[in-house]
Amino acid sequence: MRVQSPRDLAELFEALQTPGAQPLAGGTDLLVRLRAARKDGVKPLPASLVRLDGVEALRGVRREADGALRLGAASTHAELLAHPLVRAALPELAAALTQLGSPPIRNMGTLGGNICTASPAGDCLPPLYALGAVVELASQAGARRMRLAEFIAGPGRTGLKPGEVLAAAIVPPAPEFQVRHFEKVGRRGALAIAVVSLSALLRLERGRIAEARLAWGSVGPTVWRCPEAEAELVGRKPTLAALSAAAAVVRENVRPIGDLRASADYRRQVAGNLLLRLALL
Ligand SMILES: Cc1cc2nc3c(=O)[nH]c(=O)nc-3n(C[C@H](O)[C@H](O)[C@H](O)COP(=O)(O)OP(=O)(O)OC[C@H]3O[C@@H](n4cnc5c(N)ncnc54)[C@H](O)[C@@H]3O)c2cc1C
Repeated sequence: MRVQSPRDLAELFEALQTPGAQPLAGGTDLLVRLRAARKDGVKPLPASLVRLDGVEALRGVRREADGALRLGAASTHAELLAHPLVRAALPELAAALTQLGSPPIRNMGTLGGNICTASPAGDCLPPLYALGAVVELASQAGARRMRLAEFIAGPGRTGLKPGEVLAAAIVPPAPEFQVRHFEKVGRRGALAIAVVSLSALLRLERGRIAEARLAWGSVGPTVWRCPEAEAELVGRKPTLAALSAAAAVVRENVRPIGDLRASADYRRQVAGNLLLRLALL
């Protein structure tokens, strides 16, 4: 297998023209999959791995002219976590990054890898869905943008076209949310894949919820939103009674699967229960 190390976007797009080329960011998902594929011998290995870490244009965090935050796809989780703009403006994403893997995984793994793996348990995804993030996809033909919620089509499936890379995730400017939260429940306290996770944003006006954005991980094939529960909360104070009513709506509507990590019923209960935490914030 060939490994190519482009130093800028022009070299990157050229390298991606190689038939069977695949982008390699931190390798924390891809190398595990390739090792398994080599053992099985079922799936063909990519002809070439194209490293993204040397392409400066894919890294870093910056504020755009309209106030949106642009998060470079090849930024590592540790780089994002250390960035003052991420910590100050996106506390729920910072909370998710703090709980993602372990220090070595956060030093190697990237935002782009987490998004393109398109796992229902990807920790960056619920905060980015709640924030209404948009992805920027770039290739020799130019750049295009689409909503993250449309880009991710299912587990491991995205809207990436051949020759394209994810260049950045863009978080549009948002109204001020007084409650910003991410919580993950796993089988253990650290280095655990989410059994259920929730990212929640609540905007309050005169003590009542004017807008609720709720996004769950690991309860469906992709991040799951529950407009019925969001509607249940609007107009009410964020009390335990209101959150319990919304939690009941969640348990009625959510359709998780059971697997080796947790039963479907456990996931259904926890998906509702995670809302109750918001009463304590
Ligand atoms: C021990 C361990 C623990 C883990 N714990 C967690 C956890 O707690 N939470 C969690 O969410 N994940 C976890 N992961 C999964 C993984 O670390 C993350 O998903 C990570 O963000 C993947 O990023 P990467 O840069 O390593 O991606 P890579 O492995 O390099 O790539 C993953 C996929 O995305 C594609 N890709 C990467 N970047 C781009 C791009 N910019 N454009 C187009 N395609 C791209 C690659 O071609 C590949 O298909 C864990 C993994 C391990 C090994």
